Amino acid sequence: MASRDKASNQLEDFKAQVKEKNRLTTSTGCPIDNKLATMTAGARGPVLLQDFVFTDEMAHFGRERIPERVVHAKGAGAFGYFETTNDISKYCKAAPFESIGKKTPVAVRFSTVGGESGSADTARDPRGFAVKFYSEDGNWDLVGNNTPIFFIRDPIFFPSFIHTQKRNPVTHLKDPDMFWDFITLRPESTHQVSFLFSDRGTPDGYRHMNGYGSHTFKLRNKEGEYVFCKFHFKCDQGIKNLNRHRAGELSAGDPDYAIRDLYNAIATNNFPSWSLHIQVMTQEQADKHRDNPFDLTKVWSQKEYPLIPVGKMVLNLNPKNYFAEVEQIAFSPAHMIPGVEPSPDKMLQGRLFSYSDTHRHRLGTNYLQIPVNCPFAARTRSYQRDGPQCVTDNQGGAPNYFPNSFSGPVDSKDYQQCPFEVSGVAQRYETGDDDNYSQPGIFWRDVLSEADREATVDNMASHIKDAADYLQKRAIDQWGKCDPEWGRRLEAKIAEYKTQATAQANL
Ligand code: NDP
Repeated sequence: MASRDKASNQLEDFKAQVKEKNRLTTSTGCPIDNKLATMTAGARGPVLLQDFVFTDEMAHFGRERIPERVVHAKGAGAFGYFETTNDISKYCKAAPFESIGKKTPVAVRFSTVGGESGSADTARDPRGFAVKFYSEDGNWDLVGNNTPIFFIRDPIFFPSFIHTQKRNPVTHLKDPDMFWDFITLRPESTHQVSFLFSDRGTPDGYRHMNGYGSHTFKLRNKEGEYVFCKFHFKCDQGIKNLNRHRAGELSAGDPDYAIRDLYNAIATNNFPSWSLHIQVMTQEQADKHRDNPFDLTKVWSQKEYPLIPVGKMVLNLNPKNYFAEVEQIAFSPAHMIPGVEPSPDKMLQGRLFSYSDTHRHRLGTNYLQIPVNCPFAARTRSYQRDGPQCVTDNQGGAPNYFPNSFSGPVDSKDYQQCPFEVSGVAQRYETGDDDNYSQPGIFWRDVLSEADREATVDNMASHIKDAADYLQKRAIDQWGKCDPEWGRRLEAKIAEYKTQATAQANL
């Protein structure tokens, strides 16, 4: 067994720890006499309804699956800590950044986005990068991706956008027409699609990619002053990507490649880590910024807003049980702590509502009582009570209404969020034409190497060749607006694939 990796040896490792076998019981703890046969009326007779050993297990088995996440269904999780290495107290009073050397426990879940729970880890897709800090001021979830940007800037498009990444409702197949139709009708997606079709769209597992909070947040210090902020987790292992062909081979040969890689690395004490940095922008800078600093399809240039080091996140513990600790982990951008607040980023505002709402549906009203979600470093003291599957003491004898005269928990102005001014006419402001091409153009010219450009064009063409001709033309036009050379090269590559397809059809 020694030659097998830690993931393959999991059951052997469990066996080695068991000194004496445990007594087998029903779910009520009642010892079982025989688990090798149902109870029947005679050797060949029908099964008795009184066989609780059987019905107890079957009834639970039929309810083993909870709804799959609509997005980010396939993922891997791990635990560890975040350690502050640099003082950022002038920007932020959040508990994890309180002092240099302070360690805060974290849970992290990495994921693909569009595929189902059984889909391949190496699919071309953004990767979820969600971090839960278990702080003394409650749990803080930084629920980001491996890209600093996203496909859309208004959350009204989110359900439609995700539908185009999933299956055609008639054929139950992935549909390139759906994909490219949406992308070319909503050119604000250009920047993220450019990242997606570079080789960073197929990272080599979860350990070799950056993570980003992606949204703009607001940080508040002890004096009540605030700045806007972007979070960057820079990968300490170095960026490593798979090319399209290798990613495809792994999809077929080892669809669980990224989960296995993370598990084995941690199990062999090769702990992955990321260095956290922030970018900050004052209100004055935000007012004068050339574009909307709360637009999720754009980055803040690091030349103008340099990265400020904050600390290091290390993952050093595998989950003890996947379902309990990874399938049931629930992140929400609305889970913030004093010192971190929302910005007006429309996408963030949409997610503040929808994530917690989804968890109440998927895991139940009391999802925050599940151990992995429970804010164990803080004590929950609220006026919420009851609901399905309440597994705590339901806050015992404390009053369940506020205000009260019976020493129930009290609020404090110490935790007030930054007051902010809101003005303007309430209406639906369309943002589709809000400069969709400048930053992807910079990405093409100044960030991608020639080899990256070659791969990006090839990855795009190999996907879009299966979409309708008029969608291909729209895409060529769209990427030509980022840089004319990009458009020309995409057109030439698509033509090359079409010639190849015609030649093959004529064989
Ligand atoms: P910089 O030159 O200061 O930063 C470029 C950034 O791109 C670095 O963070 C780099 O960090 C990252 N990068 C390098 N290669 C790739 C790649 N193949 N795919 C994705 N990211 C890559 O320039 P600016 O900050 O002025 O940004 C210029 C352009 O860089 C932007 O328009 C955007 O397209 C892209 N970019 C910007 C980021 C930002 O937050 N400002 C972040 C990521 C990309 P690393 O190699 O560590 O990822």
